[in-house]
Amino acid sequence: MNQLMEHIDPQKISALETALKASCRPVIVTHMKPDGDAMGSCVAMYHFLYVMGKNPRIVLNDRHPAYLEFLTQDIADISIFKENPKDASKAIEDSDLIICLDFNAFHRTDNLSELLESAKADKILIDHHLSPEKELFSIAFSETEISSASELLYHILLSTSFINGNAESLPRRAAEALMTGMTTDTNNFANSVYPSTLAMASELLAAGVDRDRILQHIYNHFGENRLRLKGHMFKDLMRVTPDGVAYMVLDRATQEEYQVAEGDTEGFVNEPLSIAGVKMSILAKEDTDRIRISIRSKKGTSANRCAKAHFNGGGHENASGGALRGIDIRAVALYIEEHTHTFMTEEQ
Ligand code: 5GP
Ligand code: MN
Repeated sequence: MNQLMEHIDPQKISALETALKASCRPVIVTHMKPDGDAMGSCVAMYHFLYVMGKNPRIVLNDRHPAYLEFLTQDIADISIFKENPKDASKAIEDSDLIICLDFNAFHRTDNLSELLESAKADKILIDHHLSPEKELFSIAFSETEISSASELLYHILLSTSFINGNAESLPRRAAEALMTGMTTDTNNFANSVYPSTLAMASELLAAGVDRDRILQHIYNHFGENRLRLKGHMFKDLMRVTPDGVAYMVLDRATQEEYQVAEGDTEGFVNEPLSIAGVKMSILAKEDTDRIRISIRSKKGTSANRCAKAHFNGGGHENASGGALRGIDIRAVALYIEEHTHTFMTEEQ
């Protein structure tokens, strides 16, 4: 039995088993703009419920990026709010159990937020972010000292009587999805790796998960445009402030010029942390209705506090995000310079 399984409350596991068994129409939801961990945990939960004989449905606010499509190729039961709002709303309204993965507050699901709040079904949370809204859930699994929601779900599923500690008993596609989510959220074992993370990876490999196939999909499947964009961003757009903050502002015109698709800039924000004097890195990306902010920091600087105080967001201690609204993209560089100067001055 691995360390984390011992730490998970058996009463909560048994409450989870009872809820899953009783449900006929479970719905699985995650945060907007789903990343590898969001999709990995959803897809794993989907296959777990499917082999239990349930009729699970994944409901997303917006479609997952192309590099994660290999996870969902054989799943027909996905509703995407932005593509079919009626279908997605009905799935949530008709559901008798809502499983919320990889987010800490309903607003992180964007358009699904009100539907989730008003839904009568019991809600279960499985998440690894700081400050979760635990009181809104009938069962809440929240661990912040863990690599990913996928890892937390892995230890939870292994603790159930269905899997009983044996990773080989996980549905093959669930095991693959969990390995994917943990790999992307740790940036391929670069951040937030705990003994339990390596134990999970080892057990999944031993159970036959094809990690090479996963790595091909998540890291070696992009178009030439993405690497050209990356070159342009680090050569021409990146600025480093005297406070040790590296930032890049990516406007819509540049995104169109390089034909940027969702997921193409994944991971870029981590790179400036390779510079010795850089303590924090920020990527501002212009979207249709907001400017999305990604923040990463080295130990000793809090991306979470900066996101909360200056960018209407939050997340984890060293990896957070947020959004700016009602600001012209041309004013964002100055906004970042001024606000991070205030933040870094107060932090030191
Ligand atoms: P990313 O930069 O990869 O989009 O997000 C990094 C982390 O910050 C993720 O764990 C994500 O959940 C969190 N995050 C991203 N955007 C927001 C936001 O707008 N609000 C909050 N509270 N967290 C965010
Ligand atoms: Mn995550």
